[in-house]
Amino acid sequence: MLYLSRRIDFSAMHSYHVPEWTAEKNEQVFGLCSNLNGHGHDYKLEVMVKGELNDESGIVVNTVDIKDLVGGLIEEELDGKYLNREHPYFVKNIPTTENIVMYLWDKVAPQLEDCTLHRLRLHENSYLFSEKGEGKLVNLTRKYHFSAAHRLHSDKLSDEENLALFGKCNNPHGHGHNYYLDVTVTGEPDSTTGMIVDLGQLDETVEAIILKKFDHKHLNLDVEEFAGLNPTSEVVAKVIYDMLAPHINNLYKVGLWETEKNYFEYFGPGEAK
Ligand SMILES: [Zn+2]
Ligand SMILES: [Zn+2]
Repeated sequence: MLYLSRRIDFSAMHSYHVPEWTAEKNEQVFGLCSNLNGHGHDYKLEVMVKGELNDESGIVVNTVDIKDLVGGLIEEELDGKYLNREHPYFVKNIPTTENIVMYLWDKVAPQLEDCTLHRLRLHENSYLFSEKGEGKLVNLTRKYHFSAAHRLHSDKLSDEENLALFGKCNNPHGHGHNYYLDVTVTGEPDSTTGMIVDLGQLDETVEAIILKKFDHKHLNLDVEEFAGLNPTSEVVAKVIYDMLAPHINNLYKVGLWETEKNYFEYFGPGEAK
């Protein structure tokens, strides 16, 4: 089986508003997104399909066909529109990133020929995307940032072994990174809010549990959770997951960018679901 992906960009406006609620409640739940005059995003949609190689042509499917099919649908229905007012489905269902990706999945999946839809990933901006594969669930990933120092050193190895293994990362005074943290939650969009998580609540949780403790700190020296641990990014990802899991009931995974080149993810105990 081969997997291939095509990106399609569009712009759209939306507003998060439940008509049955008071203005106060809408603002309390949706924050700035509740502005009825709307706001907009430059969305990026990644369409990943899978299929068998055609031995004659050497392709699975022509990516231009994907662009024509999905791009055509988007141009007709979404691009340049105020979704809540101009799209029949989103007049009734709040056009959250989660709901848009669910809608697109149902529209696109049955129309594909010679391949199967594997994943749709919709980026609202560079720090929020939702994605959907087969099944009823949708994932939402929020990106956070912290800067911290660490020293790679294991108490279970000799000084010589540590130096040989970690090189300059074993520097006794430490060194630092601009870490980016992806927190992914999973679920079915709420029928009223169209969301799988209260984003404001998620931000508050990650801020209180992780960022406040980690940002501009030395992980080995300032953060008690690393006492006796070697704060490699594998360990940092696992520690963050374990710290967040009791507070986020639909936590799916934690992804940690140590640099733009090094990325680590942890799905909790057991295999990735
Ligand atoms: Zn928005
Ligand atoms: Zn490092």
